Amino acid sequence: ILASLPGCSNRSSALEEERFYEKLFHSNSAPMLLIDPGADGRIVDANSAATRFYGYSHDTFCLKHTWEINALGRDVLPIMNEVAKLPGGHKPLNFVHRLADGSLRDVQTYAGPLEVGGRRLMLCIIHDVTEQKRLKNELQHAASRDHLTGLWNRRRFVEMLETAQGQKRRHDLDYCLMLVDADYFKAINDQHGHHAGDEVLVLLARTFEARVREADAVCRWGGEEFIVLLPQTDLENAMRVAESLRMTIEQIRVAHLPQVTVSIGVVQHQAGEITEHLLKRVDAALYRAKELGRNRVVSA
Ligand code: GH3
Ligand code: MG
Ligand code: MG
Repeated sequence: ILASLPGCSNRSSALEEERFYEKLFHSNSAPMLLIDPGADGRIVDANSAATRFYGYSHDTFCLKHTWEINALGRDVLPIMNEVAKLPGGHKPLNFVHRLADGSLRDVQTYAGPLEVGGRRLMLCIIHDVTEQKRLKNELQHAASRDHLTGLWNRRRFVEMLETAQGQKRRHDLDYCLMLVDADYFKAINDQHGHHAGDEVLVLLARTFEARVREADAVCRWGGEEFIVLLPQTDLENAMRVAESLRMTIEQIRVAHLPQVTVSIGVVQHQAGEITEHLLKRVDAALYRAKELGRNRVVSA
């Protein structure tokens, strides 16, 4: 590339520069691209780590533009132009890049201005972070979800409860809680096996999720207990949702799976009530539903 650039008049210094460039650019194990921001983001040079990573031959690569490999398409150009103005380069940016085979990779790019042979270009170093990102998502998922049902876990639910409480304080938005417990679940396990019991729990989870609104949060509270947070909902509406849930579950028939019913306690958060007290009240409502014969909804 240096040979083709204007301004390399001094032969020995040009050679030196070329050797330096070879070392820094071509023998680097990090994928690197040399980009011309002034030419619509054309890729001027790509090192062998980059040709390997993206899967293009060197010649094909050098006919492309940044916007052809960036999933943002031409929307990346204003970002590139901003970055090109920064004298010392920029902090790593996160993008999605498309490889020659069409697959997408999460990348972190570091770009900085580089004058080569009198031309103001941009050196871009690409770091593939796909695997890190996947692991991070997996960890985040595992930390907030119940592994059997995929519902929110207790820890995450308590955070959401705090959020709802904040909204109640600031905007006076009512919210309700529903505590759901499967009836005679021990008997289901005993008669049909633990595995069937697990399947029933998953079925219950999917039913709850399907029957509540997008904004509602369904959580596996413990063994065969579930808790639902209904933001911006008063007691009357929460009771209606709970009753419809109870009826839906009562009517479910799935081949090879035992039938199940649920008892539900429902409470509306009261002004100034702490979470601990709210949970105690919903537990008491559920207890009362069990006492009254199960397969019913009771409010407190
Ligand atoms: P009640 O109507 O009073 O709620 O009766 P119950 O039998 O449902 O209540 P109990 O608390 O006596 O028993 C709950 C049962 O739920 C016992 C436990 O083995 C079962 N259980 C808890 N977690 C799981 C799970 O993850 N999978 C399965 N299959 N069973 C579970
Ligand atoms: Mg139970
Ligand atoms: Mg229970």
